[in-house]
Amino acid sequence: MSNDYAVSRELIGQLVDGTIDQDNTERLLKMPRKDKARFFNYIAVLQERVQWPQRILLRIGDHLYIVAKAQGERVVKCDCGHEFGDYRHNWKLGCRIRSRKTLEAMSQVFDPAPAVPEPGWQEVREFFCPECATQHAVEVVAPGYPVVMELLPDLDKFYREYLGQPLADESPEWYQDRTPEVTARWV
Ligand SMILES: [Zn+2]
Repeated sequence: MSNDYAVSRELIGQLVDGTIDQDNTERLLKMPRKDKARFFNYIAVLQERVQWPQRILLRIGDHLYIVAKAQGERVVKCDCGHEFGDYRHNWKLGCRIRSRKTLEAMSQVFDPAPAVPEPGWQEVREFFCPECATQHAVEVVAPGYPVVMELLPDLDKFYREYLGQPLADESPEWYQDRTPEVTARWV
């Protein structure tokens, strides 16, 4: 039965590359059921497009992934190969950061004028890979607000309960925000 709803890897590749045509897009949208193998096929397509061998566990941005390294290591990695370290640490803290605080600086990226954040009350932070300069994220927050942790996935639960393929290195230690370990080192 599930084969009736299978989506080929070639088509998933076109989705990822943005080259899929209108007919296939509509066909996917109108499928009565989702393809059960879709997640692992998607990961396989992503894996073919990166230049490094580590297993992708989850894509967390257009050019950002959580990957499995040696046993006991799950790290955030950029398309270019740069590693941001343990995925329980907010990867943004390892970025080059541009902060826009003035009306002039924020007006360069916001339009029309009423959409521009109010200086003094808000600032725009842009996060770039230190190696390839890809912009991975943007956040608009009050000045002094802690860098936002966008996502802390419970990978063990996701793989075990939703995908039915538990990860080999499951541990209750994984699902924890350990960002304070990084900021503590700055003191
Ligand atoms: Zn990079």
